[in-house]
Amino acid sequence: VILKHIRYLVTQNSDREILENVDVRVEGDKITEIGESLSGGEEVDCSGKVVMPGMINCHTHVSMTMFRGISDNKVLEDWLHEDIFPAEEEMTDEEVYEGAKLGIREMLATGTTTFNDMYMPERKVAEAVDELGIRAVLTNGFVDIDGEGERKLEMSRDFIEEYLDHPRITPAVGPHAVYTCSPEILEKAREIAEEYDTKIHIHVSETETENRNCIEERGKTPVQHLDELGLIGERTIAAHGVHLNDEDIELLSEKDAAVSHNPCANLKLGSGVADVPKLRKNGVTTGLGTDGPASNNNLNMFDEMKFASLIQKNRDPTQMTEQEVLDMATIDGAEVVGLGDEIGSVEEGKKADLVLVDLDRPDMRPVENTRNLVSNLVFSFNGEVDATMVDGDFVQTNGF
Ligand SMILES: [Zn+2]
Repeated sequence: VILKHIRYLVTQNSDREILENVDVRVEGDKITEIGESLSGGEEVDCSGKVVMPGMINCHTHVSMTMFRGISDNKVLEDWLHEDIFPAEEEMTDEEVYEGAKLGIREMLATGTTTFNDMYMPERKVAEAVDELGIRAVLTNGFVDIDGEGERKLEMSRDFIEEYLDHPRITPAVGPHAVYTCSPEILEKAREIAEEYDTKIHIHVSETETENRNCIEERGKTPVQHLDELGLIGERTIAAHGVHLNDEDIELLSEKDAAVSHNPCANLKLGSGVADVPKLRKNGVTTGLGTDGPASNNNLNMFDEMKFASLIQKNRDPTQMTEQEVLDMATIDGAEVVGLGDEIGSVEEGKKADLVLVDLDRPDMRPVENTRNLVSNLVFSFNGEVDATMVDGDFVQTNGF
């Protein structure tokens, strides 16, 4: 298929080029050519449209759409122990599956083409991913507080083995956090990640309480504790990183660990504000995530970009430009989840994970040239995209 007459192509390539009036050829699951007047094959008219790379949601628990709005006014610890854990105990596998489908539909309708998820049983999320055509990094997440750590670790291994060869699913290991997993289980989780060469997706320094308890119990911050167990490295996707000291940031940077910044959930649960400008200045790869819909309460990455910018502008409006947050939502997010060579930008040879936005919408006007295009996408557009393509297939269209 050829996407013809694209008004603006936001490539997110290394020069952050925005091309005007171009065509994109998609063959199979890949972008094979970008140029003018391409022909030969089925054509899709994209005049009056922006085409941009699909976004990467670097941290979520998609099935928690089922708990949207059940607990809106508590700090993380109370929210988790009083409302979420009890609700999850009652949750059926069918609800994990239905919740995932609901969340995936929302993500596709708002321009997300890849998400990094942690839940249980994750095979129900994988079924929904398989069915609806989105791309995902999936971990069968686990806690170790019920003495079932070992069994759950084996479930993680089985999950990884089952999905190692799936074209759109990348399995990973997901120990929940340092306060829910023993050092022994964390080390075993690392061994599995090494054995299958996967990412390790874990909550890190989300709240002050988490840090305080970890320091009291182990004499170390969560990052330093994890580092000692060998869990800070290229494989690490640390969700949150709200309360990191300079030493933590240096460790993350030195060891090439990545962070998912989740501003909406951090604000809503009163967890604090991650110092993302500092992380980025120190060379820590940082992406954006929504976290689960019980603490956000949506999965809209356009919202997340705006919040990521405003949460820093509160202190200094020169920080976190529209281009920086778009980078976090696309090319940097791709690096975070370990798919930087395949997704995150519109370039020849990459996967055809694309999003179409109509320029005629009131919330995208005026756009006279490329100067305010990214600004409109980040600060004014409500996220209702025209169409979403994953792996070369249109998997969602809003009347396009
Ligand atoms: Zn989370």
